[in-house]
Amino acid sequence: MDALVIGAGVCGLTTGISLAEAGLAVTIRTAAPPERTTSAAAGALWGLVRVGPPERVLDWGRTGLEVTTKLAAEPAAGVRMVSGKEVSRNPLEPYYWTKLLPGLRLCDAAELPDGFTHGWHYTAPIATMPVYLEYLRTRFTQAGGRLELAPVGSLAEVAGLAPVTVNCSGVRARDLVPDPTIGPVRGQVVIAANPGIEEFFISRDDQPPWIVYMFPHGDTILLGGTNEEGEWDEEPQPAIAERIVAHAAAIDPRLRGAEILGHRVGLRPYRPGVRLESEPFGGGVLWHNYGHGGAGVSLSWGCAAEITAAVLSPGASWAG
Ligand SMILES: Cc1cc2nc3c(=O)[nH]c(=O)nc-3n(C[C@H](O)[C@H](O)[C@H](O)COP(=O)(O)OP(=O)(O)OC[C@H]3O[C@@H](n4cnc5c(N)ncnc54)[C@H](O)[C@@H]3O)c2cc1C
Repeated sequence: MDALVIGAGVCGLTTGISLAEAGLAVTIRTAAPPERTTSAAAGALWGLVRVGPPERVLDWGRTGLEVTTKLAAEPAAGVRMVSGKEVSRNPLEPYYWTKLLPGLRLCDAAELPDGFTHGWHYTAPIATMPVYLEYLRTRFTQAGGRLELAPVGSLAEVAGLAPVTVNCSGVRARDLVPDPTIGPVRGQVVIAANPGIEEFFISRDDQPPWIVYMFPHGDTILLGGTNEEGEWDEEPQPAIAERIVAHAAAIDPRLRGAEILGHRVGLRPYRPGVRLESEPFGGGVLWHNYGHGGAGVSLSWGCAAEITAAVLSPGASWAG
């Protein structure tokens, strides 16, 4: 084994793929299968929200945008391009990272729902996570990777097992590293039958922890949601789900009485900045790749590429 990756969320799987497709023998060891990770709960529209630092996430995000835009042409990947708008009842400029999006434009007043005064319209890739995670898992194994379902009790337990170890444990890095600067931002969402909505919608000015968004995924639509800081509860709360549906139906009446198909909760791994750095470890190297907040799907390919380039570089310390 050349590399051991801890975690099979979107960051662990893309890192595993990147290393395996570069020719390394890679094992992913994970406490939970991909479909039971935070990644499985994501919306998952490309965007660099609740994440930093800006100068690094722009580069990673650019790579993520390029890769997922290409994946939208592969039906098996579960990625498509979707148009829609982010709106506010207050003066609000497009975020710094929207400059990466071709075709971004400000909305005319006529395009905004009642009560909203500002907004911008764009097109971006969106992943249907259950399908996308299965695509990533299959691509990883097709590249020769092995996926093992077993928790890592401590980093010391895996020191020396492989020359390269990558820690993609998401919010659980808090205990595994340990890193007290990472914590959960709980997100609950509802999956409903799509009554014919084709554009995404995000309202940016609801009172925390609420955020109103709707992400169409073909026959289904994902309704959000919450940003609950410091909350670890992974069970969907019926009262929150009811309020999510009511918020969405107030914006788009087609959602009144929509059939509810499921509920999901994820713990966004929030940290003041993504931790992407290496340290000596068991005679080899340990890369940390966690803390992607509300943008892990968007950043994962860029972070994976940075690690793979460093691992393959001629002067890489682990190789010597
Ligand atoms: C409601 C919601 C909506 C979101 N929307 C978007 C969006 O629109 N766009 C976007 O880009 N992002 C979005 N995100 C954020 C995104 O989901 C996360 O940033 C991303 O999933 C983090 O991925 P990860 O692989 O780091 O962590 P996770 O998905 O949490 O995976 C961590 C993995 O590590 C494993 N693990 C942990 N500890 C151990 C251990 N000790 N031993 C072995 N394995 C271990 C876990 O089992 C798991 O497999 C959203 C998140 C939520 C909750």
